[in-house]
Amino acid sequence: MKTFISHLTPLSRAVAACFTASTLLALSAPGAMAASWQECNGNKIRWNNSWTNMYISTTSFPAGSVWDSKLQNAMWHWNNVKGAGFNFYVGRDTDGTHSNSNGVNEIYLHGSEAGGALAVTFSRYHCYWLFGWHYGRDEADIAFNSNLAWSTGAFNYANLGSPYSFEGVSLHELGHALGLGHEDRWMSNMNSYYPNSGPLGQFKEWDPIGDDRIGVRSLYPDATAETDVAGSAFKRTGAGTSGLVSSPLSAARGSTINIEFTFSNLSTATKTFNIGFYLGGILLGTNTGAWGSAGATGTFSRALTIPAWVAPGVYNLNFKVDYDGAMGEANEGNNTQPMPRNITIY
Ligand SMILES: [Zn+2]
Repeated sequence: MKTFISHLTPLSRAVAACFTASTLLALSAPGAMAASWQECNGNKIRWNNSWTNMYISTTSFPAGSVWDSKLQNAMWHWNNVKGAGFNFYVGRDTDGTHSNSNGVNEIYLHGSEAGGALAVTFSRYHCYWLFGWHYGRDEADIAFNSNLAWSTGAFNYANLGSPYSFEGVSLHELGHALGLGHEDRWMSNMNSYYPNSGPLGQFKEWDPIGDDRIGVRSLYPDATAETDVAGSAFKRTGAGTSGLVSSPLSAARGSTINIEFTFSNLSTATKTFNIGFYLGGILLGTNTGAWGSAGATGTFSRALTIPAWVAPGVYNLNFKVDYDGAMGEANEGNNTQPMPRNITIY
């Protein structure tokens, strides 16, 4: 049997600062998108029983610790993608040792294995011909860089670097562990660069975005369906890089401002919905008939007029996808998305 080990997966620490002119799409569905994976003679290389066990090192991440819970939360988010039948199961690795060739998927902290990257997933798989093609994933070990500062708290939009979100990087590495490669053509949690596509919605949930869902649905398709659209405070800024959407820091009453906003259709089908734009709780405008194909993520711009009658002060600009509640969604908590910076109205 031939086996291959691929160090395909360092998540680079570098955050490219190439804010190219933002390519805002018209308010319509973005075009084709695709996740990436490895293939064996045209067959997708996957866990052939659609599940695997991940053994969390208890010496690195003690059972019951917040680290342990963030790892399990990231696994749950992949498991919860509908239209895909993949499942991670949680085990404990209590012996303080690990190997990339012991057939046990281990998750641990290490001082050198990740090199200068945030984390690395070591994947082992087979692909050979013996009266037919034989292929499948055999092992996936995840090493987090113990030399870096990690955060287990809520994501801070004001800080797109260190300390790095442990849950966000966990979601990315677990995407590798289930068989996804980097995807730098679209906004994706599988982007090469931290913070990838960022968290979704007002609760800053680390959840596979549309393109990630296309990936896991392609590798492990099942017949379940999902309806969910989500807002994001991020936009694509380059190949595998993301940054915050823009919005003004101040504006006069009665003036017109422009904001950028991003939504992702996490659903298994095309969805059409309406969007509301708010200053605090004041509805400034709506967009009816926004739509996206399954897995599409797009960033758009919108002009909004600040009413002359609002009181001066500091406000949060925000938007809400499906603001009128016309769709029954799997997750109603990721529709409202605040702008990452407040605005002062004068
Ligand atoms: Zn990666």
